[in-house]
Order: sequence, then structure tokens, then C-alpha cells
Amino acid sequence: MNIPKHSFIRWIVMYRRILTRDRLAKMGICQEKECLLCRSEPESINHLFFACEFSKECLKGVLEWLKIGIKNTNIDGLWRRITRKAKGMISRSLIKAIIALLIYHIWRARNGALWNKAVTRPAKILKMIKEESRSRTSGSTQKKHTSKDATWIDNLFK
Ligand SMILES: [Zn+2]
Repeated sequence: MNIPKHSFIRWIVMYRRILTRDRLAKMGICQEKECLLCRSEPESINHLFFACEFSKECLKGVLEWLKIGIKNTNIDGLWRRITRKAKGMISRSLIKAIIALLIYHIWRARNGALWNKAVTRPAKILKMIKEESRSRTSGSTQKKHTSKDATWIDNLFK
């Protein structure tokens, strides 16, 4: 499961290259600073990933689904903290791909709010993430993985 567009968004978020409103304001491009998803705080990378009530709810849903408990949900070092909880290589790469999907969907919801003036519900985002990761892992989880990995992945999509 490796999707270039998701990896790309993940990359520009991780390396702080994504054009959030705080950056656009500094460049003199956008005067509005409000987060489009919660409308209560200024939009920045740290806010969107994952201090915002909206994205926090999405992340919480994903972590509960993956059965991963972490307290610090700040984007800096998030991979390390999350993948440390993974059981094996395969679950680790699947978790990474799922978080990349989450970042992608939050950014998409943010752009949807900007252009269509409608915010996707966190529950819908969670549903899309589950469906997309299921369709991309189906058929590939059996044989080559350790049984621990395979069981974990099977349980995820039950
Ligand atoms: Zn927000």
C-alpha cells in the first residue's frame, strides 16, 4: 500500500511545506487566518495536525481503530511514537500508510471547506480511510507476513 498522492501530502506536512493560512498570511497571499474546519483558531500545521478539534476527532477514531494509545498527538515525532506501538514490519508500514491517508483526508476536507463551503464529518473521513486501506491491503496480507502481523491486519478489517 503505497499511494504517491498521500505520501506527497504527508511529506509536505512533515517537512512543513504545506501552505496553511498562517504561511499564506506571511507571504501576503491570504488575510484570513481562521481554521476552516473548526472555525475557532488560526490555521497552522500544528493546529491542523492535530490540535484542531476536528482533526483530533479523526485521529482519535483512527487510533482507536488501530488500538494504539498515545497521548502526544503533535505532528512532530508522531510517526516515531505511533510506529513504536506497531507489532511488526507489516503493521508498521500499514499504520504509516493509514496515517498518511488521514493527513490526506484532513487536508482534502480543509480544501473542501474552502471551495465548497461544506465540511466533511469526521465519521465519514474515518469510514473512507477504513475502506481505502481495506481495498489496498486485501489479498496481500496472507502468505508473506508473520502470523502476528496477519492476525493483527485480519482483526483490523473484520
Ligand atoms: Zn481547527
